[in-house]
Amino acid sequence: RAKDSGRGRICTFTPEMNRRVVERMRMLSRARLAFDRQSFSLQYQPQVATSDGRVRGFEALIRWTDAELGPVSPDRFIPVCEDSGLIVPLGLWVLETACIEAMGLACRGIGSITMSVNMSAVQLAQNDFVPRVLEVLDRTGLPPNRLELEITESQMIGSLDAAIDKLNALRQIGVHIALDDFGTGYSSLTYLRTLPISTLKLDKAFINDVHRRPDARSMVSSISRIAHDLSRCVVAEGVEELAQWEALSRMGCDMIQGYFVSRPLPADRIDGFLAAWEERRMVLPIVSRDDV
Ligand code: C2E
Ligand code: MG
Ligand code: MG
Ligand code: MG
Repeated sequence: RAKDSGRGRICTFTPEMNRRVVERMRMLSRARLAFDRQSFSLQYQPQVATSDGRVRGFEALIRWTDAELGPVSPDRFIPVCEDSGLIVPLGLWVLETACIEAMGLACRGIGSITMSVNMSAVQLAQNDFVPRVLEVLDRTGLPPNRLELEITESQMIGSLDAAIDKLNALRQIGVHIALDDFGTGYSSLTYLRTLPISTLKLDKAFINDVHRRPDARSMVSSISRIAHDLSRCVVAEGVEELAQWEALSRMGCDMIQGYFVSRPLPADRIDGFLAAWEERRMVLPIVSRDDV
């Protein structure tokens, strides 16, 4: 930013900056087109309880492969959609599609799972955020306690009180709230206490070394203990190896999500995954918890 670089300095609009602006504009126009043509899709990644290895839920993750841009990661296009406001209708589409999928699972006898959906700060900041969520629940018939909304701490900055009121309203009807990516960015323990969250999701950055580094281990077990004292459920994200699973269950982590269990799956592969997982579940080490 020009202002940050101090007095008397001239901020030049470099070719690099120009390139980035053009790239973002192009991505936005492609994203608008993709939204109109309904070419976004969702994949679902299972979340498994460490206590018995059973699948407790799925996280819905948006996917986009553009004809011109190729596959674009949500980490790249979500910020562009946020800046432009496209995230509001797009996020609503994600929510409704994920709720419909959860209802489909329930119809196939898999009714005890929770569907987790990522929410953008921009969505949360909308005045009609709560009624919109209620409408979707109503339309799709999904019981509120089968839905979990994932928010991140960085999104709370700004209108914290308003956000808390909205999240409380949803909590009251039974919707679960998860604090996503805990351990990145600001990571204030205050949020853990003041936000009406039911679940804490530990970021992959914490999980990477949990099975080989004592410092990573003490971070995770301390945060888990605090979270449990506050009656929050703890989910570890980005678990890729059996050794991580073992370490995390010992430390009292309630749920595991990551490539170790499964990559995010297209909807039509969920049933196949569930059947195959039942086999794998039987040979999982269910370790007893240390006293954490
Ligand atoms: P997130 O919500 O923290 O999602 C977890 C990310 O980690 C996903 O990336 C997932 O594919 C990836 N992941 C899961 N397990 C593993 C693992 O074992 N190893 C590795 N290396 N990665 C793993 P993805 O799908 O690319 O999404 C990135 C981020 O984009 C999400 O992070 C979320 O913040 C955002 N996002 C995705 N879908 C939506 C959406 O529908 N709405 C909004 N607002 N944001 C979304
Ligand atoms: Mg998430
Ligand atoms: Mg996360
Ligand atoms: Mg993330």
